[in-house]
Amino acid sequence: MPFGHDMVYSLATVVELVNTSPSTGGDDRLADLATLRAFVEARQVSGITTLTPRDLGQVRLVREAFHRVFTAPDQPSAVRQLNALLSETRITPRLTEHDGHPLHVHYFAPDATLSEHLAADCGVALAHLLVEGEWERLRTCSAPDCDRVFVDESRNRSRVYCDSRTCGNRMHVAAYRARRRA
Ligand SMILES: [Zn+2]
Ligand SMILES: [Zn+2]
Repeated sequence: MPFGHDMVYSLATVVELVNTSPSTGGDDRLADLATLRAFVEARQVSGITTLTPRDLGQVRLVREAFHRVFTAPDQPSAVRQLNALLSETRITPRLTEHDGHPLHVHYFAPDATLSEHLAADCGVALAHLLVEGEWERLRTCSAPDCDRVFVDESRNRSRVYCDSRTCGNRMHVAAYRARRRA
């Protein structure tokens, strides 16, 4: 994909975020402040010091808004869903080179909350993806019992499972067994 490192990183973050949702199958994996803190550390979300129950509620709302973008049935619906999210997001572009990273752009204000941070940076990354005509890369796993989302970064847009080692492998084994029975 013709996207820079920051954008690829933000897309990976939004995928991780959406896949904590019970909407993708399983339990809510942002169940409390401890799991929210673990998410912030795992994704190296910068500038976040305190987290409150209010942050947890707001992040869950943003997460569902992103889920609607990923699961939109067509490109115009994805655009509508993303515009709805962006219109509620305070966006403040700012050049920075924190923590030893080279100069890059943040889209959240310096005093942004966690949900504002995620909505701005991930929202802008998805906006660029849609502008590049890459809407089709926003996918939901094809395994029958998995609704996790992913961004298909393969050259020929051929990826159908959220994870080739888990769902992909599981489905190939099932197909192999079905052929052997036939
Ligand atoms: Zn940064
Ligand atoms: Zn899957």
